[in-house]
Amino acid sequence: MNYDIPLRVRFAPSPTGSLHVGGLRTALFVVLLARKTGGRAVLRIEDTDRERTVPGAEEQLRQDLEWAGLEFDESPWNDGEYGPYRQSERLSIYQEYARKLVDEGVAYRCFCTLEDLERMREDQVARGTLPRYDGRCRRLTPEQVQEKLERKLPFVIRQKIPANRTVVFEDLVRGEIRFETRDLDDHVLLKSDGYPTYHLAHVVDDHLMEVSMVVRGEEWISSAPKHILLFEALGWSAPPYAHLPLILDTERRKLSKRAGDVSAFVEEFRREGFLPQALINYVALLGWHPGGDRELFTFDELSELFDIDRVGKAGAVFDISKLLHINGIYIREMPEDEYISQCRHRLAVSDISADTNTESQLENLFLLIRDNVSKFSDVPDLLRPYVHETEDMELEARLALDGPGIKDLLTEVADAVSRCEGFDGLVFKGVVKAVGKELSRKGRDLWMPIRAALTGRTHGPELHRIAEILGKESIVKRLRGRVDHISR
Ligand code: GLU
Repeated sequence: MNYDIPLRVRFAPSPTGSLHVGGLRTALFVVLLARKTGGRAVLRIEDTDRERTVPGAEEQLRQDLEWAGLEFDESPWNDGEYGPYRQSERLSIYQEYARKLVDEGVAYRCFCTLEDLERMREDQVARGTLPRYDGRCRRLTPEQVQEKLERKLPFVIRQKIPANRTVVFEDLVRGEIRFETRDLDDHVLLKSDGYPTYHLAHVVDDHLMEVSMVVRGEEWISSAPKHILLFEALGWSAPPYAHLPLILDTERRKLSKRAGDVSAFVEEFRREGFLPQALINYVALLGWHPGGDRELFTFDELSELFDIDRVGKAGAVFDISKLLHINGIYIREMPEDEYISQCRHRLAVSDISADTNTESQLENLFLLIRDNVSKFSDVPDLLRPYVHETEDMELEARLALDGPGIKDLLTEVADAVSRCEGFDGLVFKGVVKAVGKELSRKGRDLWMPIRAALTGRTHGPELHRIAEILGKESIVKRLRGRVDHISR
């Protein structure tokens, strides 16, 4: 693909709630193409379907995009020369074009009532044919139309789909696509309340806003022939289309509301403590194949390397474990002070009280668990074993404390630690080894019960690092507290 010409590309969401990862990917590819070519990224709010429009959703969308770091050059909030960018503010434009189409004989008024349409559908189903509008109002004479207009009957405007034509277009992702017009019905362009349908509104806007490439999800592909015919009917040329592959879940079904144990919406990823850069990095890989094994890219690298020619048509699997992996890498690479402040925030809003811990102890604990944090919502649970003397023991830890000689082991270690003059991780290691020698224990037999007693867990960071942060008194207290609960 030649990227020498600046592209005008648009993201055209309907405000129905938080942004889904599918929408995020479209928005990302749109912004990347605009940046790559020195063009313009346009955000247009498609809010003409009043039943689907959810109050507050536009603001949510704005926050989601801002959080993700996707900036649009033109939008309802960042006006440009082609506004308004909210379709509900452009109704008269669509009405004018709908009228023009009727005047030119490529669209017609349809006076069918909901009951008429329902009856038509039932008859078609009963006859075993595909339910669709049968075109009866297309055949009304000008006099009949006039008579109905005089009676002020409500009407919609439908597009006249030409019979027996093959619509062919070259999709930038999927190659040549063909549709037969006999499979399309005369769909509605303008509703009886004067609102356009998505089909009319977006075609008019893509033309008037001089959109030079349409990037959108594969679910719109079946509507594309209608759009191409509409461009034709209006005497305009259709922009090139790039229909992005579906996003699938790990069972290869279309990804819906959930992705593993998180929901598939930006708001939720944010709440769960994913970093926007990591999410963007991962989402870029959903369908785009950069070549080679590399999978970490900054936004600037993406805008340089992204190429619509390298977007595949096969469904892209959304794999939450891979996203967690990438997020973990970004968490380990982020500046330490930012990491600590995110941890602090997660702890503050959790059910854990860390009053007995000093500031520096907490910071050290945050750093201790850093390798295991794959999203910030993990922080409270990862900290739980270290912030207070916990009664919360995992079953494995309880089992590790159930054996002969464990009471003696813990008592000896507690006594030896309490006798230490200076104390740090190294001293702790030495003390444990000395007790082990005395009691003829080593390796797992020696370390596991101590870990279990100190943390209530059988896994975690290196024990001497934990011990150093907990400090002498807390260790003694934890070990002695545990001794009281075990029998041998
Ligand atoms: N408003 C449509 C949506 O909700 C946009 C489809 C398109 O990009 O043409 O996704």
